[in-house]
Amino acid sequence: MPGKSRNSKIAIDGPAGAGKSSVTKEVARRLNLRYLDTGAMYRAITLKLIQENVDITDQKLIAEILKNTNIKFNEQEEIFLDGKPVAAEIRSSAVNQLVSPVSAIPMVRRRLVEMQQAIAKESKGIVMEGRDIASIVMPDADYKIYLDASIEERARRRRKEQLEKGIEMTELEVIAEIKNRDLIDSGREDSPLTRVQDAVVIDTTDLAFDEVVDKITGLVNN
Ligand code: C5P
Repeated sequence: MPGKSRNSKIAIDGPAGAGKSSVTKEVARRLNLRYLDTGAMYRAITLKLIQENVDITDQKLIAEILKNTNIKFNEQEEIFLDGKPVAAEIRSSAVNQLVSPVSAIPMVRRRLVEMQQAIAKESKGIVMEGRDIASIVMPDADYKIYLDASIEERARRRRKEQLEKGIEMTELEVIAEIKNRDLIDSGREDSPLTRVQDAVVIDTTDLAFDEVVDKITGLVNN
């Protein structure tokens, strides 16, 4: 492992379906850095609100729940909600549908951003992926990447992902879901999906997975 990457902080932002999760995981593996999927944290809180049947306009109750919720990752970067593994559950369509409105709640963002910044601080090096990593969570990142892809390609990937889980969706349904999430994620007042000025933009539409990973690790190693 080249020495340069050892303490690097790498921020990867982009919309749903741009390939962030799989790319970020592999970049972290190759550079031997910690990996943090911040979307998984927003999904875990959303799952908790669903489990507790919470009306997401009930600020008081949400504040209470945030205080009493524990989100942790183990060594393998698997996510635990109040001590239970929830990696599969947080990818359900119920969570998919509610996660963007929940992520737009300022109190939720404050709490999770705090946790993400604490994790960055205690890690020697990290690759963190989300929507507001370069803009809000780690504005001091050494490398800022923005991954994008055409809506058709993002929908194709999403649909394939869903099919692998046994969920069949039409192309139109997937496009509608992605567009709805894009709209909420980009339009919210509090830390929206942002492409910072100094980000390196990579359009992954026509790139193979390895090409995207090589581009990012190349930036760090050269
Ligand atoms: O990345 P993923 O699709 O799993 O993220 C799920 C949702 O979590 C996004 O649609 C967005 O609403 C929210 N999110 C966010 N800020 C982040 C990461 C994810 O608002 N840093």
